[in-house]
Amino acid sequence: MSETFICPRHGDYLAPEAITLAADLRTIVPLAVKRRARCTQCVADADAAKQEAQKRYEIDLSRWRRWEAAEVPYRYRNRTLGNWKPSQDQQQAFRLVDAWAADIRSRYDAGEGLLVMGPPGVGKTHLLAGLVSAVIGAGFKARYASWPEAWARCRPPFDGSPELLFRELMNVDFLALDEIGIRSGTPKEQERLFELIDYRYSRALPMLVATNLTASELLRVGERTADRLREACTGVVLTGSSKRQEAAEDEALRRAPDAHQEPAPPSLRLLKAVDGQDEEEQWRARQAA
Ligand SMILES: [Zn+2]
Repeated sequence: MSETFICPRHGDYLAPEAITLAADLRTIVPLAVKRRARCTQCVADADAAKQEAQKRYEIDLSRWRRWEAAEVPYRYRNRTLGNWKPSQDQQQAFRLVDAWAADIRSRYDAGEGLLVMGPPGVGKTHLLAGLVSAVIGAGFKARYASWPEAWARCRPPFDGSPELLFRELMNVDFLALDEIGIRSGTPKEQERLFELIDYRYSRALPMLVATNLTASELLRVGERTADRLREACTGVVLTGSSKRQEAAEDEALRRAPDAHQEPAPPSLRLLKAVDGQDEEEQWRARQAA
């Protein structure tokens, strides 16, 4: 006959036969008996809570790692679409960006990007950083790069491996490419930019590109590159005067936390009835490799 215990949460429970037998033996060989009667519902609840917390943590950790890998410049890590404050004359741009970001999965599937045009200081990099953070939040990988810096890595003396960098820029889910056409490039530079844009264009990999050029000046990055960008990206024109000073003075923006935070491994305090007595287990999530 099984021994009955009472769990404070789940009521009566029976000890499994093997444990009952062992319990009978306790009077004879008390030290030999190690197994005790656990409430199976408590054990199942605790396992489910641990699994749920572990899963949530791994999702948060993966988002954080994708955010780190996106290499958004330090100053812009707290710039989001939420704290982007378009001016009166940027409302049209706001609507286009808002519509784009409303369904990032479809943008990815269709290879639809944005081409952000406007003079220096109107918030193009803020916008790119905000788009990258939204893309990361939607579960994708993204990479921010400033074209002049990427191009500089392609010329001697080589800083790191340009091939490795370019492979990443070519293949990442969403590429945020800042400052194209900042000066008229040499034919070599134009060719390299075309290779990158054409590779992504032909594979329908979305691009988020920012430039100081206007739509009619876009040819300066090379005619074929301009064609690809016009076809694969919705044009977003940011007008206005430089907001950089304004942004520097915006205390709230300066204090805003980074768009994504490193998650701490969660811990749980779990109660399980053992031989009818509550025992506490402290559990901490494992850090995924
Ligand atoms: Zn229980």
